[in-house]
Amino acid sequence: MVGLGIAGCVFLACLPDDRLRNTLVFDSGCLGGDLARRYGSVVANLTCEQLSNAIHAIPRWKDTRLTVLEAQDPNTCPRLSDLCKQLCELMRPLLPMTTLHSQHIASISQIPGGWVLLTAEGASYTVTKSVICTGGEPRRLDYPKPAIPLEIALDAVALDSYIRPTDRVVVFGTAHSGTLILRNLRDMGCRDIVGAYREAPPFRWVRAHTPECPCHLIGGTGCHDSEGVKQESAAIADAIVRGEWPSVRILRTEGEEFVRAVMAADYVVYATGFQRRIPVIKGLGGDVLEARHDPVTGAIAPGLWGFGLAFPGQYEKPQGGTAPDIGLPGFVAHIQACLGGLL
Ligand SMILES: Cc1cc2nc3c(=O)[nH]c(=O)nc-3n(C[C@H](O)[C@H](O)[C@H](O)COP(=O)(O)OP(=O)(O)OC[C@H]3O[C@@H](n4cnc5c(N)ncnc54)[C@H](O)[C@@H]3O)c2cc1C
Repeated sequence: MVGLGIAGCVFLACLPDDRLRNTLVFDSGCLGGDLARRYGSVVANLTCEQLSNAIHAIPRWKDTRLTVLEAQDPNTCPRLSDLCKQLCELMRPLLPMTTLHSQHIASISQIPGGWVLLTAEGASYTVTKSVICTGGEPRRLDYPKPAIPLEIALDAVALDSYIRPTDRVVVFGTAHSGTLILRNLRDMGCRDIVGAYREAPPFRWVRAHTPECPCHLIGGTGCHDSEGVKQESAAIADAIVRGEWPSVRILRTEGEEFVRAVMAADYVVYATGFQRRIPVIKGLGGDVLEARHDPVTGAIAPGLWGFGLAFPGQYEKPQGGTAPDIGLPGFVAHIQACLGGLL
């Protein structure tokens, strides 16, 4: 199993003890993955209760006390670092059952009846089945302006030491991360901030629609769009749409005003989603395989599966079509649904 982010942890927790004892685990980062290493200061978009329910849906943790999450109001959203602390506590007895290597897997090559994992240092391990939960890197666009790294833009303290309040910043993306970054920039006193979106409406609310919801102010019907902003992000979108944040302009990524804003910007931030971060995968003949997975079974190739941000399951959108199911509850449901075909 490669990758000890929240998806890798969930996968290991779903394995029976005898399988855990037979599992090699590789991670070149840290327990908790990117939520621990990069985004710990961000407030989750799910409540303590929702996160606890997801964890309790894993049979081995069904009745386990969740000391970190239960210490907080169930209706509040914890910091992602708290979610990671909780997972680390839960993983403490499980990891010693596995054989853990702090190594980067450079490639995974198919052999008859199994796979060979090659580390960056040149060590190789032969296994019968492989699971990769290696997460993703923020997607970048190619505008000719210096980019503030996503993890810095999301961390108010780091952002404040990275740029000056007089800097002009264009934030690409107005979903969860984008709205939090607009808030951080405004709170540090920036006066010329642009939130750029590609497809109207700029904000899609997830929470149940109420007559007070300002979605109608932007001609949107997004209240029931499950990919949209919720919790803290939804409150930020409300304030912007009601005109309460004059330092923030919301522009579509076309037209003169947008072009001028980019030309005048000192920095840009890309909050436009993620691209998967995966080792090279080679087939039996040694050819590099395109890592296309089946979102229903998690299978990438015979004996090779992928989960988490890099290889999510999907859900039916209420308005039709499907979308990747990113987040702890989605990972738990998907991994459990796929486990039968894997063990
Ligand atoms: C700002 C932000 C807020 C979010 N908020 C929430 C939230 O509130 N609730 C929620 O449920 N989800 C949230 N998510 C979504 C999602 O849960 C995270 O993206 C999560 O980090 C994905 O977990 P993962 O295990 O798939 O990947 P990661 O966390 O990226 O973990 C992958 C691990 O694999 C390791 N790795 C990668 N490649 C290799 C290799 N070749 N060899 C060895 N090790 C390797 C990495 O070092 C890392 O430790 C948020 C995401 C972001 C960006």
